[in-house]
Amino acid sequence: MAKLAKPGQINRLTEFTIVKRHLKSPSVQTQCRSKVIMTPGETLHEYLQNGRVPSGKIYAKNPAIVKEKLISIAKGGSNQLQVITDFDYTMTKAYHDGKRGLTCYGIVEQSSVVTQEFRDETRRLLHQYYPIEVDPHMTPKEKIPLMLEWYNGAHEALKKCDIYKKDFETMVQEADIHFRDGLDIFVDLTFRMNIPFLVFSAGTGDIIDACLAQYDLKRPNVHTISNFATFAPDGKLIGYEKTLIHMFNKNEHAIAATSYFGDIKHRSNVIVMGDALGDADMGEGVHQPGTILKIGFLNDKGREGSKSMKVADSIEERLPIFLEAFDLVLTDDQTFNIPLEILSTVTSD
Ligand SMILES: [Mg+2]
Repeated sequence: MAKLAKPGQINRLTEFTIVKRHLKSPSVQTQCRSKVIMTPGETLHEYLQNGRVPSGKIYAKNPAIVKEKLISIAKGGSNQLQVITDFDYTMTKAYHDGKRGLTCYGIVEQSSVVTQEFRDETRRLLHQYYPIEVDPHMTPKEKIPLMLEWYNGAHEALKKCDIYKKDFETMVQEADIHFRDGLDIFVDLTFRMNIPFLVFSAGTGDIIDACLAQYDLKRPNVHTISNFATFAPDGKLIGYEKTLIHMFNKNEHAIAATSYFGDIKHRSNVIVMGDALGDADMGEGVHQPGTILKIGFLNDKGREGSKSMKVADSIEERLPIFLEAFDLVLTDDQTFNIPLEILSTVTSD
C-alpha cells in the first residue's frame, strides 16, 4: 500500500519564485524565450501570493518535484506537450452558487427526453451498485464485473426511451451546466499552440461532445474518449460501443483500444487533470512518457448519498491520499486558473 504523507510533509505551495529563478538559468533560457521565463512565473507567483483564489488552496507533497516537472515541460515546449483531462467536476464545476453541479449522467436523467421509468431504473441501479463501487473491502477486480452490469443496465434503460442522436443536444440545452472559469481560455490556448487536448471520461461521450459543441469548446485539437452510443441510420440509439470505460479502468487498458496515443507519440510530456484518484492514471497509455504533471481537484469530502461510505469530516482529511496520486492538489477551487497559469508558464511565446 502506498505510504501516506504525514501532515508535516504536506507543503502548502505558497510560492513559485523558485521556479521563476530556475527558469532564468542560462541552460533553460536557451530553450525558452524571456517572456516565457519571467511573466508567467511571476503571474503564478502573484496569483498565489495575492490569494486570487479567495477560498482556494493549492498543495504539493513535494514542491521540488513540481518545480522539476514544470521546468522539464517548459524545456520540451508546446511541441512535446499534450493535455489529458477528466470531464465531470474537472472541466465542469463541482459546485456553482452552493449547488452541486450536474454530471453527464445527471444531464440525461433530469432531461425531458427520458421517461420516469428510466429515472426509476437508474435510481434502483444506483442503490444496488454504488455501495459496491465504494466498498473498501472489495478489490477493483471483484468490482469491475459488477460495474459493467451497472453501466449495461443503465444503457439498456436508455435504449427503451427511444432516444435519437439529436436528443443529446436537447438534453444539454435543457441542462444548467457550468464549466470552470478559465477553461475556455485554456482550451483556446491549446488550440492556438496545437497541443492535443484529450477529454477522457467514464461518463457518456455523446453528452460530453454535445456540451463541448454548445459551449464552443470542440476545437480541432480536442478529442473525446468516453462511452459513446451507437445509432441506426435514422439516428435512433441502438446500443453502446463495446469497450466500456468505467471508474476502475481509466488507464492504459481503456486507451490501448484507441489509436489516439499512437498518433501523437512524440508528445511525451503530459498535463493530466482529474478529480478522482483513478484520474491520476489517465496518462498511462502515453507512448514513451517523459514528464507527467498531475493536477488533482479535491472538490469535496466524499460522495454523499450512501450509508455504506464514510464521508470524511473535512476535505483536508482526504488530502494525503490525493497528494499521493497527484503532484498538485487544488481544494475549494472551482476555476481552471491554476492549470491556465501553468500552461501559460510552460508554453507561452
Ligand atoms: Mg470527474
